Amino acid sequence: MAYKITSQCISCDLCLSVCPTGAIKIVDGNRWIDPALCTNCVGSIYTVPQCKAGCPTCDGCVKQPSDYWEGWFANYNRVLGKLTNKEDYWDRWFNCYSKKFSEQLQKRQPQVIEAKA
Ligand code: SF4
Ligand code: SF4
Repeated sequence: MAYKITSQCISCDLCLSVCPTGAIKIVDGNRWIDPALCTNCVGSIYTVPQCKAGCPTCDGCVKQPSDYWEGWFANYNRVLGKLTNKEDYWDRWFNCYSKKFSEQLQKRQPQVIEAKA
């Protein structure tokens, strides 16, 4: 599974010179990674993918998922990583959810009582 260049790319061309396999090209004015040449930098002298490591943008180079769930989790982790106050994220989520749920229950309460009568 190769890396790909996204719409976040600002065409700085930094990745073109650092890719050890020459997989990054300019096609019709856009930067593009040839999936047949991209090795994820595995087997090179680098320990991390150079295009992603050096890209000055956020998500200018991203790993292309090989299946649906890998893509789902990659997206989930990316979004989660951007959240602030991560420590209490689920506490706040649960409090908000339970509050809304109990509001809806209270709204339906009269209907339930009427139905029983
Ligand atoms: S390093 Fe990032 S911003 Fe620069 S050309 Fe490559 S993908 Fe685009
Ligand atoms: S992951 Fe490595 S081999 Fe693949 S395009 Fe990026 S720099 Fe090149």
